Amino acid sequence: MMSRILIIEDEEAIADLEKDYLELSEFEVEIENAGDTGLARALAEDFDLVILDLMLPGIDGFEVCRRIRKTKDIPVLMVSAKKEDIDKIRGLGLGADDYITKPFSPSELVARVKAHMSRYNRLVGSQTQANDVVEIRGIRIDKTARRVMINGEEKNFTTKEFDLLTFLAEHPNHVFTKEELFREIWDMDSIGDIATVTVHIKKIREKIEFDTAKPQYIETIWGVGYRFKV
Ligand code: CA
Repeated sequence: MMSRILIIEDEEAIADLEKDYLELSEFEVEIENAGDTGLARALAEDFDLVILDLMLPGIDGFEVCRRIRKTKDIPVLMVSAKKEDIDKIRGLGLGADDYITKPFSPSELVARVKAHMSRYNRLVGSQTQANDVVEIRGIRIDKTARRVMINGEEKNFTTKEFDLLTFLAEHPNHVFTKEELFREIWDMDSIGDIATVTVHIKKIREKIEFDTAKPQYIETIWGVGYRFKV
């Protein structure tokens, strides 16, 4: 998918020039010529980066940047004609990601945009690759790290205990027979039998239950098997 850029700039010649160069680099570009309309679009639509002029009719660039930052973490590249403004932007801590002074070469702008875009995409990408976690009533199973927290306290599980707990927790309220659990967790070549399941359930309960005589999580369904209660 093409990355979308919003240019908020009141000088049309500059906005058009920026747009032309960015489009040559395969970006999709939209232009708004005033602070208020630019801000409205930046908040309402999904842009991957905003190029923001400082002196704008309506709301100025300082305020636009501040308001975008309240809800969005997309890169904001601020543009100003005055070197002093850049110092002011830095001083105010508006959360702008970069500053560029006019006049600038279009290729410099494109280079900066690409750098911010790839940095942002890496950041967003790393967030979407977050650990695979199952959470149920105080039990937090991090499948990626293979760690289990019980009410905020980490407990150690053997490989099979971890696999069995995770399998049950991922199928809440489903009753499994011991045979089904044995087949699911232990491969066919395993030495052992379905009594192994009972032993493992007991060990897991000792780690996760407050009172093993009255299990709150893994329930025994007499004559059938076990289920993870939600
Ligand atoms: Ca301006």
